[in-house]
This record gives sequence, structure tokens and C-alpha cells, in this order.
Amino acid sequence: MKFLGAHVSASGGVENAPLNAHEIGANAFALFTKNQRQWVSKPLTTESIELFKANCAKYGLLPEYILPHDSYLINLGHPEEEGLAKSRAAFLDEMQRCEQLGLKLLNFHPGSHLNKISIEDSLTRVAESINYVLNRTKGVTAVIENTAGQGSNLGNEFWQLMYIIDRVEDKNRVGICLDTCHTFTAGYDLKDSYDAVFNDFEQQVGFKYLRAIHLNDTKKELGTKVDRHANLGEGFLPLDFFKRLMNDPRFDNIPIVLETPDESKWKAEIEMLRSFIDG
Ligand SMILES: [Zn+2]
Ligand SMILES: [Zn+2]
Repeated sequence: MKFLGAHVSASGGVENAPLNAHEIGANAFALFTKNQRQWVSKPLTTESIELFKANCAKYGLLPEYILPHDSYLINLGHPEEEGLAKSRAAFLDEMQRCEQLGLKLLNFHPGSHLNKISIEDSLTRVAESINYVLNRTKGVTAVIENTAGQGSNLGNEFWQLMYIIDRVEDKNRVGICLDTCHTFTAGYDLKDSYDAVFNDFEQQVGFKYLRAIHLNDTKKELGTKVDRHANLGEGFLPLDFFKRLMNDPRFDNIPIVLETPDESKWKAEIEMLRSFIDG
């Protein structure tokens, strides 16, 4: 079964996110559990936590298909000790919020070497950061998202994702989120080489680590390394690509989340994706 949703707003409190997901006909969703542009946010209140859980239960939204996303400020591969320590502390807080909410996944971008250390050294730091938080939490899987590779961002090549996983101690609590926009602009041709790209992913990482999909079209061409999402059918990925993915059982039973820019289209996009599913 396909679990479809979008990265919905949690403004006014995390408890509003499941309502926003329900309104667009979703059975999966993503959210920020704190302000994504600030280092520190107020702790979640007991009331907010209980309401979040109650609203998820009311609308049949299961923790397995909810994909919280961490703050954009966090850089788990930071080349400098101070930045690294700050990022790890913030990431631990994000993980603990997920624990409190009864969630099972936390999605994050691997980080950035800032042109100060090698890609490998920075990736090793990301893995050590993951070990740091997994040792201090229970039940939440660290879900590494592939990136477009803009600037000095890590994670645009499949081998880099596996380089991190190889260095994580608890392999049961690390996984991957593939973003279709990032994958394409990173240079993997999902338009003309669907099979080759996913065979490559299987060989270099493995679908057993795939925990989520960010389903986005792209405003930028193959290999541009630029991260600009487009609504489905409005970018360089053909609708045929999305149709194929909807009928590919390798993407069953994981959250498939839209991060497309015009949110007024999410409901229609989810309906369209459902209509693509054969039989
Ligand atoms: Zn994404
Ligand atoms: Zn993106």
C-alpha cells in the first residue's frame, strides 16, 4: 500500500499537523516539531503531546508514516568542534521530541563540509553524530536524506549515504529518505533511466534502508546540483515517472511526502497520485 502526504504546517502547535494532513486526504505526513530556523524552542507541553497523539489516532495517521524533519541550522558533519557540538545537542533535542510524540523516524540532511575538511572526514562526523544521538534515545530511526549537492552539502551521491551507514553502530535505527528532486538534480536520471538509477541505489545502499520518499518535481535540470522543488507535472520530471513510482512495490509501506511549493495543490496532487495506482 502507498502512504501519501505532504510536509504540513504545525503552526499553533504540533497537534495541528495531523488535522492539516487529514484535510488534504493524506495517510502520511511530515512536520517540524519546533521552529526550523531557530536553535532553541520551548519544550513540547504535555497537553500538546497528548493532543498530537489523539489527533493522529482520530484520523488514522500511524507513527510509521509520520516523518518529522529537523531544523535547517543543524550540521552533523560540521568541520569545527563548536558548530559540531551545537548541532549534536540540537539534533538530540529533535530526537527527544520525536520520542515524546511517540514517533519512529527523524529526517535530516546529512550536513556540509564547508570546504574545510574532506567529504570523507565530514561524512565520518555525521556517522559519529548519529551514534551520539542513538546512544541517548530509544525507538527513533535517523533517516538521512539525499541532497542535490548544492555548495558543500554532503549526501548527493549514493556512496556517501552508505559511507555514513557503514559507520553507524545500530544499523536497525538508520535509514534513507530519497528526495526525487534532489536525486535528479544531483545527476541521477529518473526521467530516462528509472531502472538504472534504482538499481544503482540497490547496489550502493540497498532498498532495505529506504525509510521514506520526498516526492517532488524539479525546477532545475539533471545534474545542476540546485535544490528547487516544483509541483508535480510543472518541472522536468514527467508525470509518467510519478506514475511508475506509484506502481513500484519497492515504495510500499513507507511515507511518501510532497514538499512541493504550492500547497493549495497538495490535495489534488495526492488524488492524482492515488489515481495513478493500477488495480
Ligand atoms: Zn526533501
Ligand atoms: Zn529540497
